[in-house]
Amino acid sequence: MAAGHHQHTRSRVKTIRRSAKTNRRDSAQRFETTGRSQGADQVHAGKFSSRVGFGNDVHRLVKGRKLILGGVEIPFGKGSFGHSDGDALTHAVCDALLGAAALGDIGRHFPDTSPRWRNASSLRFLTDVCKLLDRTGFRVVNVDATISLEKPKLAPHIDRMRTCLAKALGIRLDQVSVKAKSGEGIGEIGRSEAVKAEAVALLIKED
Ligand SMILES: [Zn+2]
Repeated sequence: MAAGHHQHTRSRVKTIRRSAKTNRRDSAQRFETTGRSQGADQVHAGKFSSRVGFGNDVHRLVKGRKLILGGVEIPFGKGSFGHSDGDALTHAVCDALLGAAALGDIGRHFPDTSPRWRNASSLRFLTDVCKLLDRTGFRVVNVDATISLEKPKLAPHIDRMRTCLAKALGIRLDQVSVKAKSGEGIGEIGRSEAVKAEAVALLIKED
């Protein structure tokens, strides 16, 4: 019985190995064929199309405004100046996602001249961007972002930002990375005159 079970396991492993090899060969052939016929603007990896996008954003820090990053209010004497809630992190993530799908930028979809977006929560922009992405068939693989801010230290707030962003995007926590850097006392970041955020996003779609 035990020997029979082992034999069965061995042959299954062989079958899996064989099919993995075949799949890899098929993927490689497919990549070559589609890569040539569709040009370098559309990269095919196996049966999926992937897209990478980049976004960045800067907001001035002023007294009398809340400092909101990734949907989380950070206790600080200054906040980001802006038409909406001035959430630089969420804006950068929106731009990365829109950029990956070649859907323009956040200013095009949520103009700062519209009274509709005055003091609006930027997480709302993110859920709207997700609706636009849904129409293209692309899904978010991951988002990676860096905030540049001199003060205060953001470490205690990072996981809450990740949770908020992941929830708005409808993805898991491990698909959202948020990092923070100080401005090392240099320039507008170092003087606490501004907050900056940069983000990249990867999208994938089944062909
Ligand atoms: Zn912004």
